[in-house]
Amino acid sequence: MAQTTPNHTQTVACWAAHDPSGKITPHVIKRRENGVDDVTIKILYCGICHTDLHHVRDDWGITMYPVVPGHEITGMVTKVGSNVKNFKIGDKVGVGCLAASCLKCEFCKSSQENYCDKLQFVYNGIFWDGSITYGGYSEMLVADHRFVVHLPENLSMAAVAPLLCAGITVFTPLKDNNLIESPGKKIGVVGLGGLGHVAIKFGKAFGHHVTVISTSPSKEKEAREVLGADDFIVSTNDEQMKAGTRTLDFILDTVAAKHSLGPILELLKVNGTLSLVGAPDQPIELPAFPLIFGKRTVKGSIIGGMKETQEMMDLCGKYNITCNIEVVKPDQINEALERLARNDVRYRFVIDIAGDSSNL
Ligand SMILES: [Zn+2]
Ligand SMILES: [Zn+2]
Repeated sequence: MAQTTPNHTQTVACWAAHDPSGKITPHVIKRRENGVDDVTIKILYCGICHTDLHHVRDDWGITMYPVVPGHEITGMVTKVGSNVKNFKIGDKVGVGCLAASCLKCEFCKSSQENYCDKLQFVYNGIFWDGSITYGGYSEMLVADHRFVVHLPENLSMAAVAPLLCAGITVFTPLKDNNLIESPGKKIGVVGLGGLGHVAIKFGKAFGHHVTVISTSPSKEKEAREVLGADDFIVSTNDEQMKAGTRTLDFILDTVAAKHSLGPILELLKVNGTLSLVGAPDQPIELPAFPLIFGKRTVKGSIIGGMKETQEMMDLCGKYNITCNIEVVKPDQINEALERLARNDVRYRFVIDIAGDSSNL
């Protein structure tokens, strides 16, 4: 078990939702003292993920109010515990979805902490000492250093924040399917939102031909001209879907709305893989024929381990990959959440927690 730090004596200003109305208001929480394995982080930016919206509104029936959302956190280290060797005061760092894991199981030992069954999330989780975890919509965070990554010096600390959830969510399936080091594959990205837009950038940086599959013809111009996609298929256009049959090696499906996988699977070559990273709350339709007649695979994936998260960040530094963001002030969080609910954002809101434009 990770260290226990029962002394929650530090007062921290934050933004919290108090009931299923989801309305965010300024609030104050207590955080633990910086333990021997911890770093304290002055939070500069925090991305707004769709998961935050589900939590503040208690869509999944698991919210512990008051909830302080936020798991796309970037900031500066201000304090370092005595066991921490790889971080120092002033380092630019990021924290994603994970606060703690057992550190002993087969998954923790193989840098897949995200599959540890004792995993604790960075907000709305329960830490080892029994305290509820509070996320990045706050001015300061005390984090176990094993769940903190270094940020590339050359990138905006605001625009890298969403990489800590949206980025790693799409990076891991690409790595799992050997698409980081072996260019020249044809990959499909279903859905063009917070996840999909980063997936296109990764796909292009890693040398692949990228096809976007979307219900919205209006997104084609931006997908091609701004994000660099090579091809665009409107999923409601039967002719385009037919022309795309058996053309793709791999598909990443980022759509969180209910949809059928059958037509999408037909786009895969024989032996192709479709990886699901969107999370529809209704069961998805998965017909057997496209699987059987194409020896195709459907699998899922959730975020990534810490080693992979650091690897992703380093590659983003190398390839100059960041998210396309809209920066908001803390007093605009409610408005941003409402716009997010309507998918009215290209492609991620990031809260300027500290009002410090020098790191934008
Ligand atoms: Zn997220
Ligand atoms: Zn574990």
